[in-house]
Amino acid sequence: MTPSHDVVLVGGGGAGLRAAIAIAETNPRLDVAVVSKVYPMRSHTVSAEGGAAGVIAPDDSLDAHAYDTISGGDWLCDQDAVEAFVTEAPQELLRLDHWGCPWSREADGRIAVRPFGGMTKMRTWFAADKTGFHMLHTLFQTSLKFRSVVRYDEWFVTRLLIDDGSVQGVVAIDLKSGRIEAITARAVILCTGGTGKVFPFTTNAAIKNGDGMALAYRAGAPLKDMEFVQYHPTGLPFTGILITEAARAEGGYLINKDGFRYLQDYNLGQPQPQPVLRTMELGPRDRLSQAFMKELDKGRTIEAEYGHVVHLDLRHLGAKKINAKIPFVRELCLKYQNLDPITDLIPVRPVVHYMMGGVHTDLNGATPLPGLYAAGEVACVSINGANRLGSNSLPELLVFGSRAGRAAAEYASRGRDVNPSVLAQAKDEAHRLEHVLLNTRGRERIADLREAMQKTMEQSAGIYRSGASLENGVGQLRGLQDRYADISVQDQSRTFNTERVAALELAFMLDVAEAILGSALRREESRGAHQRTDFPKRDDERFLAHSLTYRSADGSSRVEYLPVTLTRWPPAERVYGEAAPHGGPHHVAGRKVSSGTAI
Ligand SMILES: Cc1cc2nc3c(=O)[nH]c(=O)nc-3n(C[C@H](O)[C@H](O)[C@H](O)COP(=O)(O)OP(=O)(O)OC[C@H]3O[C@@H](n4cnc5c(N)ncnc54)[C@H](O)[C@@H]3O)c2cc1C
Repeated sequence: MTPSHDVVLVGGGGAGLRAAIAIAETNPRLDVAVVSKVYPMRSHTVSAEGGAAGVIAPDDSLDAHAYDTISGGDWLCDQDAVEAFVTEAPQELLRLDHWGCPWSREADGRIAVRPFGGMTKMRTWFAADKTGFHMLHTLFQTSLKFRSVVRYDEWFVTRLLIDDGSVQGVVAIDLKSGRIEAITARAVILCTGGTGKVFPFTTNAAIKNGDGMALAYRAGAPLKDMEFVQYHPTGLPFTGILITEAARAEGGYLINKDGFRYLQDYNLGQPQPQPVLRTMELGPRDRLSQAFMKELDKGRTIEAEYGHVVHLDLRHLGAKKINAKIPFVRELCLKYQNLDPITDLIPVRPVVHYMMGGVHTDLNGATPLPGLYAAGEVACVSINGANRLGSNSLPELLVFGSRAGRAAAEYASRGRDVNPSVLAQAKDEAHRLEHVLLNTRGRERIADLREAMQKTMEQSAGIYRSGASLENGVGQLRGLQDRYADISVQDQSRTFNTERVAALELAFMLDVAEAILGSALRREESRGAHQRTDFPKRDDERFLAHSLTYRSADGSSRVEYLPVTLTRWPPAERVYGEAAPHGGPHHVAGRKVSSGTAI
C-alpha cells in the first residue's frame, strides 16, 4: 500500500527537525514523515561551528539586530520578515536551551555571546565551536519524543506530486533496497538545505545539491534572489573546509604576503588593540571576500599549491584561548592542513558557503503552490537579502522551521484528502527512474559534466561577474543540459546505487545553476554578494526588488521582480569601520563612505 501521511518533510537537518517538532506540538493527531537522503545527524547543520544570533545582552536591542541584518543584506531583506526573525530568535534559542542544548556560559551562568561579522553587538550564542552539532543533537533527541513523527532515513526524493495545482506528496527511492515509492501527504515542507556543490570550491557537504530548489522550480514555484551566492572569506585552500568566523571574533587577523592587515585599505576601519565590532576582520563576508580579490589583483596574496591565499593569524591569541574558545579550528588545522595555529599561520581563501536565494516563501514558509512549504537554507523568506550575516542562518532554521511547521499543520488539519490520481504521476516517475536512469548507456560521464558545470559557475558567476561572463556561462550550461540527455549510468544494482543518485543530483544542480546565472545576468547592478564589473553601483531605482525565476515550459528560465518590503529602515549607504552608524534609521541619513579603495 502507498505510504500516506498528513505532512511530509523533505530533510532532517535543523529546519526539518524543528518543523517536525512544531507540527507535533501544534496538532498531535497529525502524522509526520521526515524523509532524508542521509541519516538526520549527518545533515549539513551538524557542521556549523561559530554560533547563532539572538538578542540577549542588556545593552542590545531587537532594532539593532534588525538594522545590522538589513544593512548587511544591502537593503534587499524584507523588513517585516526581519522583524519577526529578530523577535523570535532569542525565544527559539532559549527553547533549545530548555530542550538540552549545552550553550557555552559565562562564569556566573549567563549565556555567553561572541561578536560576529557585521553585527554591532555581541549576540552570537555558541556551544564552543561545534554549535550546529549540539543544536542538531538537541533537535534530533527532542523529535524522538513524539510518536507521531516517523522517519524515512536514507530515502531520496526525486519529484513532487501535484494534483490540480496543489502539492500532495513526493516520490522517493529507498536507497537501501532501491524500492521506489509514492509517499502522499496533504502538505509537503521542503527543508533540503543549500546548493554549494554547483561550485567547485565550497564549504558545503557533498549532499548539498539544491535538490529541494529544483523540485520546487520544476513544479512551477519560483526561486527568489538566486543571484546572491555567499563566499566566506576563510576556507582552507585545498579542501574548502571552513575556518569559522569565530576565529576572527576571538581576535584573529587577516594578513597579506607582507604581513599587513590589508582590510584597513578597504573602508573597514583601522586596526585597534582589541577587535572592534563591524570593523576590520569583523566586517561582513561579502566585503571581506571582495577585498581578497583586490589584494590578488594588486599582487599582494601568496601563491600556494592550490591557488592564491592570504593568512589568518591566530598566534597572538595564545594556546589557552585557542584551546578553550576555538578547539575545533585547531583540530581542523592539525588534521587537514598539518599545521598548528598556536605557532603557525593558516592559509585561507574565499570559498562558496551559502545561498541567500531559494524557494520563494511568505513569512510562514508558504510557497505560491498550495500545500508546498519551505524553510531553512532551501527557502528565501527573505531575511538575508543580498548578503547573509554570519550566525543568522542557524536561528533562521529555528524561527522559520517552526513557523512553516505550524502553518503546514494548520493547512493539513483542514486540508482535503489526497486525490488517488496523483499515483499516475508516481508511476511515470518510477518508469523514468527504472528505465531512463538505470539502464542507460549514453556517452557522457556524470563526473565530467559535474566538473564542467562547476568550472562554468566559478568562471561566470564568482565573486565578481560581468554580463559577458554570465552570457558565456548561460550558453555553456545549455550545452551541458543537452549533454546530460546522453549520460551513462553503469551501475545497475538496486542497493545503494550511488551512481543513480549522483545522476539525479547533477540534474537538480544543472537546473539550479541555470537559475543562478539567469537572475545574475538580468540584475544590472552591484549589491551585496552580487558584484557586476559592468554595473559597479547599487541601483535602487531599478533593482530594489527580489528576482523571481520561473521555469518556462521549454525548460529555460524567466525572471520577474517583486518589490522589497520596507517597514522602518529606508535604504541607505552601507558603511562599516568606525564611521559605521549604530542603530536605527535616524543614524543613517547623510553618512559618507570614508576614503580608501572602493569595493
Ligand atoms: C561548514 C559550515 C559552517 C556553518 N556555520 C554556521 C554558523 O556558525 N552559524 C550559522 O548561522 N550558519 C552556519 N552555517 C550555515 C548553516 O549551517 C546552514 O545554512 C544550515 O545548517 C542549513 O540547514 P537546513 O536544515 O536548511 O539544511 P541541512 O542541514 O543541509 O539539511 C538538509 C536535509 O535535507 C535532506 N535532503 C536534501 N535533499 C534531499 C532529497 N533529494 N531527498 C531527501 N532528503 C534530502 C538531507 O538529507 C538533510 O537532512 C554553516 C554552514 C556550513 C556549511
